[in-house]
Amino acid sequence: MTSLLQAWQGAKQRLEKAGLAGPVIDARLLVEAAADCTRLDIVTDPYRQLTAEQEATLADYLARREHREPVSHILGRKGFWKIMLQVNHNVLTPRPDTETVVELVLRDFPERAPWSVLDLGVGSGAILLAILAERPAAKGLGVDISEEALAVARDNAAHLGLAGRTALLRGDWTEGLASENFDLVVANPPYIASEVIETLEPEVRQWEPRLALDGGPDGLAAYRDLAPEILRVLKPGGRFAVEIGYDQKEAVEELFRAAGALDVKTFRDLGDRDRVVAGAKKPLETKA
Ligand code: GLN
Repeated sequence: MTSLLQAWQGAKQRLEKAGLAGPVIDARLLVEAAADCTRLDIVTDPYRQLTAEQEATLADYLARREHREPVSHILGRKGFWKIMLQVNHNVLTPRPDTETVVELVLRDFPERAPWSVLDLGVGSGAILLAILAERPAAKGLGVDISEEALAVARDNAAHLGLAGRTALLRGDWTEGLASENFDLVVANPPYIASEVIETLEPEVRQWEPRLALDGGPDGLAAYRDLAPEILRVLKPGGRFAVEIGYDQKEAVEELFRAAGALDVKTFRDLGDRDRVVAGAKKPLETKA
C-alpha cells in the first residue's frame, strides 16, 4: 500500500534518478492525475491510500516520463494563459514564452469591439483561444495544414465554449484567404533551424511534431512566406504579432519592414529573451 505522500516522494526520486530537469513539478502533476487528487490533498490528506488501479496508473506514467515523454502528452492537457488545452503529439505543447503574444494583443485590442483575428498554424488553438476567451466580441479564424492539429483545436474550441466564434480551416498558411480581411494576425510558426532540431531535448525532438518546429535551413523559411502574406490579409491599420526564436529579431524585423509593415518592434518574454515581433499595416490615407 502506498500513501499520497509516499507516492509523491517515490515519484520525485525516480524522476530525479532519470536525470529529468524538473522532477519535483513533474512528480506532483503525475501523482495528482494518477491518484485523482489536488495539490492541496497531498498536504492535507498525505496518508490517503492509493487504490491498486491508481498505483498501476502512476507506475505507467512514471515509466513513460522516464522515456522522456512530455508530461503534457501523458496527461493529455496543458494550461496556457488562463485556459486549459487538450494536447497530443500532433500539436506543439503550448509554452509560457508564447503567452507574450497573448499579452501584447490584449494590450492593443479593446475588450468590447467586434474585431477579427487570424491565427496561422493554429495547432492546439492556444493563441487564438486564449485571445477569444478574453475578448467576448471578437471572432477568429485558425488555419493549419495538419488535419490532426485542427481536430485538437476544434475539440479545444468546443470545450472552452468558443466554437461559435472560432472558424478552423485546413490550409497552407494564407492560401485562398481574401485580402484585407483581418484586424489582427498572430502566428507561432516553426522557427528552429533544421539541423538544430537534433540537438534539442528528447521531449521536443522525439515527441513533438517536426512540422511545428522545422523552420528550414536557417529557421526563417516560414517568415519569408508569411511576412508579405500577413501584410496582404490584414486590413489597413491592422496589427500582427508573431513569435520568433531568441536570436531572430533582426532578420524577422527586416522581413516585415521589407514587406511594408510599420511600427515594427520586438518584445521580450519573461525569461528576457527576444520573443515576439509585432507591427502594423499602413492605415488608409485620410484626406485633410
Ligand atoms: N519554442 C519552441 C522550442 O524551442 C519552438 C517553437 C517553434 O518553432 N515555433 O521548442
